[in-house]
Amino acid sequence: MVQTAVTTLGFDADDTLWQNEQFFRYTEGRFLDLLADFGDRATLSSRLFAVEKRNVPVYGFGIKGFVLSMMETALEVSDGRLDQSVIASILTMGREMLGHPVELLPDVRETLERLADRYPLVLITKGDLFDQERKLAASGLADLFTSVEIVSEKSASTYARVFAARGDGADKGLMVGNSLRSDILPALEAGAYAVHVPHDLTWTYEHIDEPIVHPRLFIEQYIRNVLEIIDKINENTDGLRL
Ligand SMILES: [Mg+2]
Repeated sequence: MVQTAVTTLGFDADDTLWQNEQFFRYTEGRFLDLLADFGDRATLSSRLFAVEKRNVPVYGFGIKGFVLSMMETALEVSDGRLDQSVIASILTMGREMLGHPVELLPDVRETLERLADRYPLVLITKGDLFDQERKLAASGLADLFTSVEIVSEKSASTYARVFAARGDGADKGLMVGNSLRSDILPALEAGAYAVHVPHDLTWTYEHIDEPIVHPRLFIEQYIRNVLEIIDKINENTDGLRL
């Protein structure tokens, strides 16, 4: 593959810029407590995951779909013999999630500020439109992005489209994210560079078992090092820079 210089940066949001999965884990814990009469935690948790997976094509990603999946699981495991108060509690937990404060991950603001001076930054996130807009506003980071793409699914064609519209095409784009399945693999497939910044908590749905080796893939523990990675790519490709 011909190495080209990076001109546009894409960033995932949830668990790349701010905490997200921890709120889902916490709520799932409360949900399992609520349903303790209907099964052990491991069984209930895998039932919930099966429902969530089944519902992704129907409801998409995000908190509202999660709430509906908790209700559906509760009805299933109780054979419909559910106290109304359980449904009320699930709704309350969902409302609490939709109001949670946005907690930036370490070094995010400083890193984005430095990068924004030199490159157009595009936020590329999937999930619920309303909630993602709320979190972006609350993060205080919105001004650092030249554009925001809230998409229903992150596929190779998503990245090809976004980097073509917001930059100079996928081969000059670089995507930064915590999810191999959503941020890294499809971006590489589209021809972009990708920096995987793993997060301690990643939803089972986003897991990939096999290790990925790719000439355009970088794995980095700290988001602040993205700057160095781009410098290195661009030093090696200066002759090809258009
Ligand atoms: Mg993410």
